[in-house]
Amino acid sequence: MARRDPATGMPVCSTCERIGHPLCGLKYWITLRAAWLRLPEQVVAEEPRSFEDPRFSLVA
Ligand SMILES: [Zn+2]
Repeated sequence: MARRDPATGMPVCSTCERIGHPLCGLKYWITLRAAWLRLPEQVVAEEPRSFEDPRFSLVA
């Protein structure tokens, strides 16, 4: 998923294109949440923003 700079081997950000980190901003947040919730990033990205939304507990 994360690209690397061929010269330095450092991760290249897929959001801001800078070297030194693989992701930032919303995409980084989604990746963190996906790992935390153990859900696919696609599911996390489509989740309702409110935890009170009943669909939140139906994600399986
Ligand atoms: Zn970045």
